[in-house]
Amino acid sequence: VQTATDYLARLDRVRAAMTAQDVDVLLLSVGGDLPWLIGYEAMNLPRLTMLVVPRESQATLVIPNLEVPRVVPRSEAFCIRGWAETEDPVSIVVDLAGGASSVAIGDQTWGRYVVELANRLPGQPRLRRATDVVGPLRQRKDAAEIAALRSAAQAADRVAAQLHSGEIPLVGRTEADVSADISRRLLAEGHIHVNFAIVAAGTNASSPHHGAGPRVIERNEVVLCDFGGVFPPGEHEPGYCSDITRCVFTGEPDPAFAELYAVLWEAQAAAVAAAVVGTPAEDVDRAARQVIADAGYGEYFIHRTGHGIGLGEHEDPYIVQGNAAPLAAGNAFSIEPGIYIPGRWGARLEDIVVATEGGPDPLNTVEHGLVVVDA
Ligand code: ZN
Ligand code: ZN
Ligand code: ZN
Repeated sequence: VQTATDYLARLDRVRAAMTAQDVDVLLLSVGGDLPWLIGYEAMNLPRLTMLVVPRESQATLVIPNLEVPRVVPRSEAFCIRGWAETEDPVSIVVDLAGGASSVAIGDQTWGRYVVELANRLPGQPRLRRATDVVGPLRQRKDAAEIAALRSAAQAADRVAAQLHSGEIPLVGRTEADVSADISRRLLAEGHIHVNFAIVAAGTNASSPHHGAGPRVIERNEVVLCDFGGVFPPGEHEPGYCSDITRCVFTGEPDPAFAELYAVLWEAQAAAVAAAVVGTPAEDVDRAARQVIADAGYGEYFIHRTGHGIGLGEHEDPYIVQGNAAPLAAGNAFSIEPGIYIPGRWGARLEDIVVATEGGPDPLNTVEHGLVVVDA
């Protein structure tokens, strides 16, 4: 649980980073930056919500009047400037940010507002990514955040256990039905929102982000399930994300698939073991990729090994070749290698892991093997 003091401390650290990077004003809209900084998450709506953080003076939350009731006021940290339906919110932000020569904007700000601000901020300030300021701070989770991520992971694990036990009927149902079922169960286990529930059966499992569709699940095929949502640590607290992938087989697995899965499992375990504080993120990616390549499946592992997670479902640090930044204590990220044979089948295995001084701490602990289900 975050207190008012925690939020103030975060604002202080953000202002120190602004000074170090010579940013005059920070503009944060939808996404994880806002809840991390002030405990309020803007709905992803076209109406503008924007926290204006000048380096020196008081921060202001510019927000549609109809959203104001959802804000927990923290007057020591920011003041609230509600705007009426007929007002122009961009001009309010322009007034508050006036005179800045360097402005950093959140990654998930709607393009229309970025364009309008770029055109209307006086003196054509240099525009930069707020992620460069806030990201390095956000990616080191504190104890309360890790506890929240663990609760979210445990809730997702309980749904995965229901999948493994055969409690979730599969054969004869469409992927879309099973996806809806998994979503209901995520909510029943305490999530307040479902981010996604991918269900991909048979050949569909060879497409990493297959959308659950009308295909009916049959006997003797793989069913890949990748699901997650938002889990609240407390009332009026922004929620943290879960994200897990498990595969089950609706019958005795084909030996070729069992072999593929064994390689994947070994690769995933190798990457988790490599996720030690001080290790460059790209070396964790390499640990998984090496096992898969050595077994001859290298060309079928077509995405990065993982992404950071927290208030956002995808955030820094990315576990990918090219990210040489060493893992730091408190980094939380997915480890999710996959092997996808086009037109045939595929598999992915995903846990959320926290890098700690005591070594990698996997938050998902539910069975990792390929479970045969009679469901
Ligand atoms: Zn994904
Ligand atoms: Zn996932
Ligand atoms: Zn993921």
